[in-house]
Amino acid sequence: MPPAIVVLGPGALATAQRVKALYEGAQIHALQERAHGDVAFGGLSDHLRELYRRGTPIVALCAAGIVIRCLAPLLASKGVEPPVLALAEDGSAVVPLLGGLTGVNVMAREIGAALQTAPAITTSGELRFGTCLLNPPEGYALASLAQGKRFVSDLLAGEATRIEGAAPWLDTVNLPRDPEARHAIRVSPHAWDGNPEHLVIHPRSVVAAASEAHALLAEHVREALSANGIAQEALAALVAPAARMGDAAFERAAHALDVPLRFAETGDSTLATDADAARAGNATALLDALALPASAPRQAAEHGLALCVAREPIDTHTLGAARGKLTVLGLGPGRADLLTPMARAALDEATDIVGYATYVEMAGPLHPGQVRHATDNREELQRARHAFELASAGRRVAVVSSGDPGVFAMAAAVLEALESSDEPRWHRVELAIVPGVSAALATAARVGAPLGHDFCMLSLSDNLKPWSVIEQRLRHAARADLVMAFYNPISRARPWQLDRALEIVREARAPGTRVVLGRDVGRPGETLRTTTLGELTSPEVDMRTMVIVGSSATRGFPRGGSGEEEWIYTPRWYAHDGGASG
Ligand code: SAH
Repeated sequence: MPPAIVVLGPGALATAQRVKALYEGAQIHALQERAHGDVAFGGLSDHLRELYRRGTPIVALCAAGIVIRCLAPLLASKGVEPPVLALAEDGSAVVPLLGGLTGVNVMAREIGAALQTAPAITTSGELRFGTCLLNPPEGYALASLAQGKRFVSDLLAGEATRIEGAAPWLDTVNLPRDPEARHAIRVSPHAWDGNPEHLVIHPRSVVAAASEAHALLAEHVREALSANGIAQEALAALVAPAARMGDAAFERAAHALDVPLRFAETGDSTLATDADAARAGNATALLDALALPASAPRQAAEHGLALCVAREPIDTHTLGAARGKLTVLGLGPGRADLLTPMARAALDEATDIVGYATYVEMAGPLHPGQVRHATDNREELQRARHAFELASAGRRVAVVSSGDPGVFAMAAAVLEALESSDEPRWHRVELAIVPGVSAALATAARVGAPLGHDFCMLSLSDNLKPWSVIEQRLRHAARADLVMAFYNPISRARPWQLDRALEIVREARAPGTRVVLGRDVGRPGETLRTTTLGELTSPEVDMRTMVIVGSSATRGFPRGGSGEEEWIYTPRWYAHDGGASG
């Protein structure tokens, strides 16, 4: 995970930029109104704690004491901690604080080298051997941390060690080696036997395959591993037939085993069958369909499973295919703090961002590896199909809309594309809709609570529905005395429709009816105006405007007792006899 580089003022930006250049995807988090970075934050403690809780590596350009004080409340419960470093603003000191087991000293060395400063490393094993033996590289897992600590103390106390198995990352490490030593570092998928003189590191080199899933699958995989003497930490992935993509039992099993779920194509040979041996045969066929290292021995195991042990750690990204993901999300009106954390998370984990160019821009900052599919065309269905093509090829796709994706936006187009498709690959994609703050809600909040009682949302665009339907709905909504929020009120291609709509509303509602106009709400250049139904004219409105027409009960009063600005709201009670005045 790329680090968050936290700065409190402009004096730290130059050093922050140099650190940022070291890590792909790193972002500068700057204290609001003090400095300008990729991400703005308000309070330092809350922000550092949030980053820490999410496991984000932190490089804070401020006093070590400040960082310690901010994070102290979180340190009592010792889980896996992300690397946390304090850095002097001018780059003259690099102090690793937390995350010895997640690579803080490695980062301290990297940053130190870039800033030409000796990092303040204090971990004795690191100092002696130049590496943390308990932090093996990606693709390897330590069998037991407690045992690891004891092993390192033994070496520090003068014991020598031999190395069994392939540990290429230790080749350049200055360990006290002796082929005859009683102590041994063993790199093996086989489980640790409890020998206190062994440090066991498991390569993630084992793949389990199953042709059928059921509630006991995870349990059966564990049993099969243990029956073969293999440690659970050595499991790299669970493999299922591509035709089972979307099967919740497989997903639950992979989740319980804490490994990625990958899929392989095997033609017809994986048809369900009751016989264990036949199912194991199908599972073996799945392994055969994967391009695993030629030497990997494979074995049919109990419960219709097959296991495969490769000689080296397996890069699961290259193993068969992943189930693709398509998330349709709402960006809110525009400002970053009105984007929900759930939508932010979906954006961060996406490999591809699909949407209208303005909104793809609004979704930033994106990571360098993320592919933008920004289009200017307004063909929503075409965009939705493109998103399914990407997702069904295993990508994680975010389709972005402004506001809420379900309000006159992409979510319905995506579902329409899916329903009308008989492409099974599309139906296997993991689909999710993430809500957002719609323009009517954002506008309403700025002026008070005009939507405080019953209201409706209407699009005045007749691109996809006949104008006569719009007129009829307007008439009914006006007579029902609903507050109305108009989306797409006007455009160059639809110049007269708004005037006609207002004419219809005026037939049923008094000229004094409150109207709110919000333009570019939550974006730079936001404007808000309040007026009345009688005074409103269409030149005051453009396609970036939200028009809220009040009900007979909607009212206003001066803010703070003075000035021109008003609070507008629609009371929760209803005293009127039905409200319609015309
Ligand atoms: N899905 C969006 C609406 C898309 S329709 C949402 O939930 O907000 C586009 C219309 O929404 C525009 O014509 C305008 O009427 C309104 N709109 C979108 N963003 C807006 C903003 N920031 N300020 C005011 N109106 C906005």
